[in-house]
Amino acid sequence: MDIVHQWLLVTAAVAAGWLLGRYGQERRARRKTLSDEESVRERLQFLFTNYSDQAVENFVQSLAVNRDTVSLHLSIGAHFRNKGETDRAILIHQNLLARPELPARYSRQVTYELAVDYRNAGLLDRAEALLQELMGSKEYGAQASRELIELYQQEREWEKAGQVARVLMEGGSDSSLAKMLAYVTCEMADQALAKDDRWEAQKLAREALNYDSSCVRATFLLMKLQIRQGNYRDAANRCLKVFGQNAEFGPEAVDRLMRLERDHGDVGKLHRKLLKLYEQWPSTSLLLALVESVQHHSGRAAAIDLLRRELEVRPSVRGLLRLVELAGYEKGMTTDEGRLVSRIGHLILSNRPVYRCVNCGFAGRQLHWLCPSCKQWETIRPIQGVEAE
Ligand SMILES: [Zn+2]
Repeated sequence: MDIVHQWLLVTAAVAAGWLLGRYGQERRARRKTLSDEESVRERLQFLFTNYSDQAVENFVQSLAVNRDTVSLHLSIGAHFRNKGETDRAILIHQNLLARPELPARYSRQVTYELAVDYRNAGLLDRAEALLQELMGSKEYGAQASRELIELYQQEREWEKAGQVARVLMEGGSDSSLAKMLAYVTCEMADQALAKDDRWEAQKLAREALNYDSSCVRATFLLMKLQIRQGNYRDAANRCLKVFGQNAEFGPEAVDRLMRLERDHGDVGKLHRKLLKLYEQWPSTSLLLALVESVQHHSGRAAAIDLLRRELEVRPSVRGLLRLVELAGYEKGMTTDEGRLVSRIGHLILSNRPVYRCVNCGFAGRQLHWLCPSCKQWETIRPIQGVEAE
């Protein structure tokens, strides 16, 4: 038997099996059930494990387009896209759209799938055009808008991302959308700040807080603006608001606060503020800031006492290293053992991630406001525990 006959047989067998299964099930029950979906998945699995990608692609190209086969075309297209075979997925979806027999009610779904293919393939202009076309759609409008926002975020087109998000909010807001709009507005504020347009930056940072009052980054931006204007005490008070917004970002706030104190020394009642915060939200960063403040005002011995006492209750590697350094200094020398503990401790910490995404687990040593992995805003946070905060 030549190859053409073999191919025709395979195609006919797969198509017949598929359609028989489908019609058989339709006769049994019109309503889609879980077992129907499982059966579709099983038959697709059979197809993908027993035939090469090229054979499946040829099969789908030769398959008629009608109400009964559209879902098969779409499933195979999605399978190729998930495998990273975007070119094949694009061909399948383009082929569907080009066929006049495609039932009208599927055209938006296919357009959406094609837009996702284009985005995955890096053909962003084409993806953008299709997604914009879908924005007004009742069924796919919201999905297309979210995809479009992600595309603009990828391109760092913050203004466009904000415009789409505002349109989407008109149809009903949720907390993730409000957070996203707040952060996109913060990105615009940051750009204004880079051009030293302080008025615009301030306006945008406040706008971000209107969208989401817990937006930590907007607070840090306003703090930065107050520092530029020389209002150090206002900047410090602003920074402390982060604890009320999301205490997990407390260590970030303490870091900025201590930098402000070291650079300008005008934070005001710093020790009392730190003590109050530590009682409510204890963390290693806060303890170390408190120790620095005690050392400054009451001397090294008092700082060592405080640190030793607190480490008994809340052990941490960073706290221990600071204690070794302070105690060694106090004795007028650094012992060999002390030097060794310090060296190994710093080595352990230097290889550890400092931040982790609470949504997807992405970890690193740099704070990203937008997770590079799951593309969610404000989900990357300082890590808690003995080796971190
Ligand atoms: Zn993530």
